[in-house]
Amino acid sequence: FNIDDLSNEPRIKVVIRKRPVNKKEQAKSDVDIIEVKTGQSVIVKEMKQKVDLTKYVEEHLFNFDHAFGENCTNEEVYMTCVRPIVTAAFQRARVTCFAYGQTGSGKTHTMLGSVANRVPGMYVLASHDIFTALQRPQFSHLQIFVSFYEIYCGKLFDLLNDRQILHPREDGKQNINIIGLMEQRITNVDQLLKIIEFGMSARVTAQNSANTDSSRSHAILQIQLKEQNNVYGKISFIDLAGSERGADVIDQNKQTRKDGAEINKSLLALKECIRALDQGKNYTPFRGSKLTLVLKDSFTGNCRTVMIGNISPCQSSSEHTLNTLRYADRVKEL
Ligand code: ADP
Ligand code: MG
Repeated sequence: FNIDDLSNEPRIKVVIRKRPVNKKEQAKSDVDIIEVKTGQSVIVKEMKQKVDLTKYVEEHLFNFDHAFGENCTNEEVYMTCVRPIVTAAFQRARVTCFAYGQTGSGKTHTMLGSVANRVPGMYVLASHDIFTALQRPQFSHLQIFVSFYEIYCGKLFDLLNDRQILHPREDGKQNINIIGLMEQRITNVDQLLKIIEFGMSARVTAQNSANTDSSRSHAILQIQLKEQNNVYGKISFIDLAGSERGADVIDQNKQTRKDGAEINKSLLALKECIRALDQGKNYTPFRGSKLTLVLKDSFTGNCRTVMIGNISPCQSSSEHTLNTLRYADRVKEL
């Protein structure tokens, strides 16, 4: 981990990660229609049918900053596209890593990893680098604080404080502050693991008792590097709501319809904010949703963003996969 090798990195990186076909899909003879090429291209071989019922394959080609195949590991994803932004946080940047994609495409596997199988995700891989960096004299004065909250139906819930509802407020300097948000100081990776576990259980509990479900909420883990009481650098990891939920508008259930509209709004606002960042615009439409509002400082000034578009390999998901690839493509396109 070389802090000095500062990133001549672009401000925005958009990468795609394909997950492997799982047993359930194999059992249903669902087929893999995604080819990842040369580390940058993704080809979708969509199976279609003409009116006379003859079948044909329509190929869609997309190019990204990087494309990861089904055999890549979380470490590879981390080293290629997340470590550079963690490095930037040690140069005072506000950096963000998003996992976007339909439910079941691998967002949580990428961000959190698999606790049961001891596969670390981005949260833990980043924190190893952070605590290694703190051993250097130049960074030894920094303190690390963690917050973990979710946005569900346009409301913020503190996952580290009994799901307390929080309100973002703009102060006189036009900074957005989340009043009362729990910030826990940590001094090693194990403490982060405990906090994540605690926060994740607050997500699950609510799933059973209330009308919420992790596929309908955005989970935000923020790691702040502080010197005295000032924020020196900030790393935000966002495990986004399932992108297919944005289309949940025809559901009979009113609550679901509201969730869908809210998710749709936030994913559209997010795309616009990242595009504004990429184009170096003076105006960032961060007020478009709660999600982009709380990330205001990460869309302005010294900031870096990585968007990981997670996709399923299967024919049965082709429509959602194409939607994810198109969304990711639009985020980058100038
Ligand atoms: P999401 O958070 O997008 O809804 P998950 O991360 O929960 O999706 O992934 C769905 C399932 O697929 C989980 O059982 C997960 O362990 C598995 N999975 C996802 N990505 C991978 C991967 N790259 N390698 C192996 N298993 C994966
Ligand atoms: Mg998930």
